[in-house]
Amino acid sequence: MFAHDTEALEAIRDGVRSLCSHFDAAYWRSIDERRAFPEEFVTALTEAGWLAAMIPEEYGGSGLGLTEASVILEEVNRCGGNSGTVHGQMYNMFTLLRHGSEAQKQYFLPKIAAGELRLQSMGVTEPTTGTDTTKIKTTAVRQGDKYVINGQKVWISRIQHSDLMILLARTTPLDQVQRKSEGMSIFLVDLHEAIGNGLTVQPIANMVNHETNELFFDNLEIPADSLIGEEGKGFRYILDGLNAERTLIAAECIGDGRWFIEKASDYARSREVFGRPIGQNQGIQFPIAQAHIEVEAADLMRWRACHEYDNGLPAGASANMAKYLAAEASWKAANVCLQTHGGFGFASEYDVERKFRETRLYQVAPISTNLILSYVAEHLLELPRSF
Ligand SMILES: Cc1cc2nc3c(=O)[nH]c(=O)nc-3n(C[C@H](O)[C@H](O)[C@H](O)COP(=O)(O)OP(=O)(O)OC[C@H]3O[C@@H](n4cnc5c(N)ncnc54)[C@H](O)[C@@H]3O)c2cc1C
Repeated sequence: MFAHDTEALEAIRDGVRSLCSHFDAAYWRSIDERRAFPEEFVTALTEAGWLAAMIPEEYGGSGLGLTEASVILEEVNRCGGNSGTVHGQMYNMFTLLRHGSEAQKQYFLPKIAAGELRLQSMGVTEPTTGTDTTKIKTTAVRQGDKYVINGQKVWISRIQHSDLMILLARTTPLDQVQRKSEGMSIFLVDLHEAIGNGLTVQPIANMVNHETNELFFDNLEIPADSLIGEEGKGFRYILDGLNAERTLIAAECIGDGRWFIEKASDYARSREVFGRPIGQNQGIQFPIAQAHIEVEAADLMRWRACHEYDNGLPAGASANMAKYLAAEASWKAANVCLQTHGGFGFASEYDVERKFRETRLYQVAPISTNLILSYVAEHLLELPRSF
């Protein structure tokens, strides 16, 4: 019914796998231990054109769909890598592509496709408002030919390895709009111009080796033509990109899930205790089998979401459910993999604990599991809105 692995998708898988073979487990382990950024990997992925997959050909990209893009990110994670270092560009690009002016698209997209500019960051979350996005306090006030930005953001990823950031700020105070989702706008911020000139970046040490930061805006001035689309419609524009983002994250979780299951199965076959492989015990093999079933089931929902999105059909329900199922499945597979490895699961050299931390993030970011459940309850089951 939906696009499963066709020859074209297999070719993408092979291409990404071949690139990833140059960035093996030892590479990712070393990056993690040093809390470094995988610059060589990101450069290689960019130069090979994979990050420009969804940029239309007229702007220098490959003009592929969400289906193909999801396979790229899935394969990176399945090979033991971490797409969290690069995925921002795939979905931030949609916002620019869908809502940017022709002049913005013509200027930025070819440079992004060629790897001259990175659009890896999106600044939405704030420390005091969290998931309640319409209450954000960061403001952008128009003054002549510029906007002046004040406020604070938290958990804004890849800022130190990006040239551009999409920023959500309030342009009309909350008490002056009819609906709380109105009066917010998005801007394309040149990070090199901004940092040190009104924008301060404070890195956040965290459980995953994820480059993420607190941002402080103190009268940051940006040109008025940094505005994307119409003033006041930014929240809707951000929502527009969420189905793609959720589907891509689901694919990454599926890649993680498959990595964990393969790793657990290999270990269960080879580790002998009490004179036989541990995988001969049902107590070991059943949880691995269960995790496999759950990853495969989540994958079906991911294909449904890709199919709907690429064919211009409403994809909200499938994208949210795919993200939920895949994040749950990869987390369960991670836990099973760790348990199968016993004490060795905790040793860095087995890579399980690193991938375990990495996949755990997707229960919380970019959208927490509870908020997906709220979406399904309200929008699919017509239950009363809970917040
Ligand atoms: C490593 C990392 C990278 C990130 N990168 C980015 C980024 O690049 N850009 C960006 O803008 N943000 C980013 N985020 C932020 C992320 O999107 C948020 O952390 C996430 O959306 C949850 O928001 P919060 O942390 O403010 O939690 P809160 O909103 O404070 O919620 C805390 C908990 O309460 C639950 N909760 C809240 N309200 C309800 C409710 N009504 N019903 C049920 N449960 C509820 C939530 O599900 C959550 O589990 C990142 C976060 C992390 C950890």
